Amino acid sequence: MKGVAVLGSTGSIGVSTLDVLARHPERYRVVTLTANTGVDKLYEQCLQFRPQYVAMADEASASALAQRLKSKGLRIEVDSGVAGLKSAAAHPDVDDVMAAIVGAAGLAPTLAAVRKGKRILLANKEALVVAGDLFMQEVTQHGAEVLPIDSEHNAVFQCMPENFRDGLARVGVERILLTASGGPFRTKPLAELESVTPEQACAHPNWDMGRKISVDSASMMNKGLEVIEARWLFDAKPDQIQVVVHPQSVIHSMVEYADGSVLAQLGNPDMRTPIAHALAWPERHGSGVGSLNLFDVARLDFEEPDTERFPCLRLAYEAVTAGGVAPAVLNAANEVAVERFLDGSISFPSIPRVIEQTLEKVTNGDEQSLEGLMAADREARGVAEQQVAARV
Ligand code: NAD
Ligand code: MG
Repeated sequence: MKGVAVLGSTGSIGVSTLDVLARHPERYRVVTLTANTGVDKLYEQCLQFRPQYVAMADEASASALAQRLKSKGLRIEVDSGVAGLKSAAAHPDVDDVMAAIVGAAGLAPTLAAVRKGKRILLANKEALVVAGDLFMQEVTQHGAEVLPIDSEHNAVFQCMPENFRDGLARVGVERILLTASGGPFRTKPLAELESVTPEQACAHPNWDMGRKISVDSASMMNKGLEVIEARWLFDAKPDQIQVVVHPQSVIHSMVEYADGSVLAQLGNPDMRTPIAHALAWPERHGSGVGSLNLFDVARLDFEEPDTERFPCLRLAYEAVTAGGVAPAVLNAANEVAVERFLDGSISFPSIPRVIEQTLEKVTNGDEQSLEGLMAADREARGVAEQQVAARV
């Protein structure tokens, strides 16, 4: 029986993870859960899964939850703040950690699990964008294991030879082909983008996701973050990672080999497939996802990405090529810009403008330490807020 921590259990990935875990009660025991402020949802999850320990980022939410659990007679330890999240990730009874907190906030708890040598099921791509080099060094140093949950990276992992960590050139891998749906604005007239609403941006054609990643998908920053994620997970050079727009979201990504072979992983667009894959790996078990009907799919289309329509993709390639703190700055500026788009402060096309201005202004920092990266993250957030206030 494996002990599992679900960090970000009340979110889209967290809920899908608990759905898969509940299908295999003989294999998994939920040991810890965490959330930000969603008391009602976390309380319900506590009733259903009876974890030993839960943590909420927000202190007031944690006290409210503790009260409710106590009056129900449930003996579950409740903690709060970053320290609580880290304890949930590093808990001694936990073997596998689902890292599904959104944003840079997921980095510290996920690193706490890495430092205990756990198996990390990584959905929180921002952790690798902010601290990829440091993160992967710590994984090696502490004997931890990272299995990708992001559907593209999980697909790439499934198409890679087992010994890919010996180096892509040595195992004959030429390129990683990351597929992208193109999001809800792939064909929208450019002039109309200025007035799109958060609701339109969050209405993804193929996937049902949290609001931040939904906006990232609409701007294609999600694919930019995924290029950086792939760079670290597979030790690939940025020019070995090609983005391919594939509107049906049936091929989740591909790997091209030196002999011309291209291997692809296909399936219905449902995150329970990569989640179940990573949980069971190297075995396989059910996920609740229905079988893929290729006759319904009928056709698979491919297009080159349009970087004029989607400047975020270009900015992400530039940041990963520049290296240093640039990816951390890109990520922080994007988190601010997305939040300000969602609260109505800026327009959708202002998102890349805020990010580009911030990248120009914040260029120095120490990317080899967590403190240095967090300082760059803080500085970038401040500068991005100034850009928002100046209405770039
Ligand atoms: P979501 O917004 O639905 O859920 C986020 C979770 O993190 C919630 O449980 C929330 O309570 C928690 N959280 C938010 N801010 C926090 C903070 N400051 N401190 C602690 N906890 C906090 O997001 P999601 O769509 O489930 O995405 C989670 C992660 O997985 C993101 O990094 C996203 O990029 C990645 N991902 C998601 C999908 C998807 O289909 N949803 C696919 C691939 C990758
Ligand atoms: Mg993805």
